[in-house]
Amino acid sequence: MVGYHQYIKEMKDYANDHHVPIMEEEGINFLTTFVIKHQIKNVLEIGTAIGYSAIMMALCQPTLRITSIERDEERYLEALKNIKKFHLEDRITLIFKDALDVKIEGEFDLIFIDAAKAQEIKFFNLFTKNLTSKGFVVTDNIYFHGLVEKNEKEIKSHNLRGLVRKIKEYISFLNTNPDYDTIIYRVGDGIAVSQKKQ
Ligand code: SAH
Ligand code: MG
Repeated sequence: MVGYHQYIKEMKDYANDHHVPIMEEEGINFLTTFVIKHQIKNVLEIGTAIGYSAIMMALCQPTLRITSIERDEERYLEALKNIKKFHLEDRITLIFKDALDVKIEGEFDLIFIDAAKAQEIKFFNLFTKNLTSKGFVVTDNIYFHGLVEKNEKEIKSHNLRGLVRKIKEYISFLNTNPDYDTIIYRVGDGIAVSQKKQ
């Protein structure tokens, strides 16, 4: 990773300046440690943004391959640029599409869901078809800036309340899913790890 520190800093600064919600420090450390610990080989990421999380995962595990989906053109183009800077074009494949309209081939041992928070159940059902046996689904922003644990009445915005409700539905969907074991970690913005039982 030596020599890339400046590029990593530039990505973080870009995200900050353009209000791109990339993973925070604690979350990205958790994710990269997870990838190493479980010797993950193939990742499907929903929500590339500017490529930050994909690049960090690829850097920590030199044989890792990632397919990542992004629907926003400006972010997709920025991600392409960043991946070139890090010379990771051969290991990170980007798909510029709405994830709900994509058909993905192949198998992945990690599906990382970090896109529209209202669609998580849909993403889960759509992409776990591509999950290996004993594979993992990792979902970011389970606490959604603390709002998920707040009293609903305290959330003034109608849209935000709807979103928080959706995330709560997703949490109970995971917790009651008979085919998966789920643990929610209080790191970063809250991360759910769901492992397929077989
Ligand atoms: N994983 C990134 C951050 C992703 S932010 C990182 O940590 O570096 C969430 C991204 O998901 C946004 O860029 C948004 O445009 C994208 N997104 C949201 N819904 C989507 C969908 N249905 N299909 C594809 N991309 C989506
Ligand atoms: Mg996130």
